[in-house]
Amino acid sequence: MSATELTGIGVGSRAAVGEVFLLETSDAVYEHQSTKHSPAEEASVLATAIATTAAGIRDESATSDPTAREILEALLIILEDPELQEMAKPYLSEGDDAPTALFKALDEFAELMGDDEEFLSRVADLRGIAARISGWVRGIAAGPSIPTEGTWIIVAEDLTPLETSQFGDSVVGVVTELGGPTSHTAIICRALSLPAVVSAKGAMTLTPGESVLVDPEGNRVVSGGTLSDATQALTFIPQSDAPLITVRANIGGLEDATHAAKTSARGVGLFRTEVLYLSASREPTLDEQVASYVEVLKAAPAGKIIIRTIDAGSDKPVPFLALGHEENPALGVRGFRLAHDFGDFQKSQLAALAAAIDATGRDVGVMAPMVSTVEEVKSFHALCHEAGITQVGIMIETPAIIQVLPDLKGILSFLSIGTNDLSQYLFAADRMHPQLGALNNPWQPGLLRSVKQVVEKAQDLDIPVGVCGESAANPLLSIVFAGFGISSVSVAPSAVEAVSTALASVSQKQAKQASLLALAASTPAEAEATVRAMFG
Ligand code: PEP
Ligand code: MG
Repeated sequence: MSATELTGIGVGSRAAVGEVFLLETSDAVYEHQSTKHSPAEEASVLATAIATTAAGIRDESATSDPTAREILEALLIILEDPELQEMAKPYLSEGDDAPTALFKALDEFAELMGDDEEFLSRVADLRGIAARISGWVRGIAAGPSIPTEGTWIIVAEDLTPLETSQFGDSVVGVVTELGGPTSHTAIICRALSLPAVVSAKGAMTLTPGESVLVDPEGNRVVSGGTLSDATQALTFIPQSDAPLITVRANIGGLEDATHAAKTSARGVGLFRTEVLYLSASREPTLDEQVASYVEVLKAAPAGKIIIRTIDAGSDKPVPFLALGHEENPALGVRGFRLAHDFGDFQKSQLAALAAAIDATGRDVGVMAPMVSTVEEVKSFHALCHEAGITQVGIMIETPAIIQVLPDLKGILSFLSIGTNDLSQYLFAADRMHPQLGALNNPWQPGLLRSVKQVVEKAQDLDIPVGVCGESAANPLLSIVFAGFGISSVSVAPSAVEAVSTALASVSQKQAKQASLLALAASTPAEAEATVRAMFG
């Protein structure tokens, strides 16, 4: 084995070996340059460059993950907005070339939006696309394009939706210096079944062209390592036809629903309805909503379907709900808190969901995201009942709602734990923060013990509780959750088979034992290692 080994957080279980492809953008695209052309000529160059680049990006991303495509589309809409080109005009009049004026306009735009962390990360994505526009104008490659031949491990500080949308068959693995288990990179790699190690300090020091082993099971990257050095992926041999607890799918729209129906998922545990609207600039009408919910419900896999009402705000900006600037958006107006200012939309969404349930006859529960008080839950429950929805649940994403669960007896039909947000609020660690990946590690004892607490409280309420955060896609954690008494997990369609197989290979007694080991650990590494040792 070789000398260099980097540790990080593994995504997926399969290992991969390939040559390092460092994804860095040439500085030349960002240079400020002046032009001898007239401002009108440069304005027309800028308009053509934006249109051509946007069309190219739409083409390339046509086959990529639907969520990534939605995010890209939202970015392209900002870039194509004539307002932005208007903002570039004064710079063109001062003699700047089209790319320089575009970068300056984006800076001005970013300044208007303040220092909102999430927005700044979107600006970084926008600058990534602007770099490509600049490369087109100046005739230089904005960033090295990933070769279509060969076997590459993409190494970068972090990856934007634009970059992940360009992955083809030659990309076999990913290593990022930053990012965490719920970062965009991790979610996309999981969806594409690409092995990755994120939050790997020192990644950018890897040498282009050197061969590395990406070992997600071992949470490491090894220079010169071979597949035989990889931490053995656990093999689970099913002992029964059905998993110990129900495995459902997480979906964001029709395409995901169709994909999920081809897996062994028993229904849908989380339909993220906001994904339908990430690029919608006007509010969808009631009829439009009914039509899109009906097509998703019809395509979804057989079994129960849990729909979440719109969870906009923070990391999920939805243009038609003009949320405005917030100092601290993850702690701001998001999830069910939007019902206060956008009550009409909340009501129209519930009416549309009720109509879609009626039209399809599917067994559907509807839940609210981001609730933290008894009053919020009661008001959501009342709104659902007014709309004719009878199976009402909530997501468990805030520490406060766990404490008041006993006061919700008789109101709710189910609970679903969103470990992505629950982690960020338990640890006060932004889930998108590139440097806080370790605090958002789902093996953190603080998170595991909180999940266990929710199960105990749900037993007193006599209602089922599922987990629909990214953590459930880890087969070992799904076993730990089953041992806690969780009754269903919901995971990305690409993870359904691995999680179902793991859950079909263990007895309730083994799951219980795994959960006790996890609860006894005082660090994430210890929790993962002791549970793994049980099955390794
Ligand atoms: C979660 O928070 O765990 C969750 C499933 O919701 P989202 O990732 O959409 O915020
Ligand atoms: Mg959430």
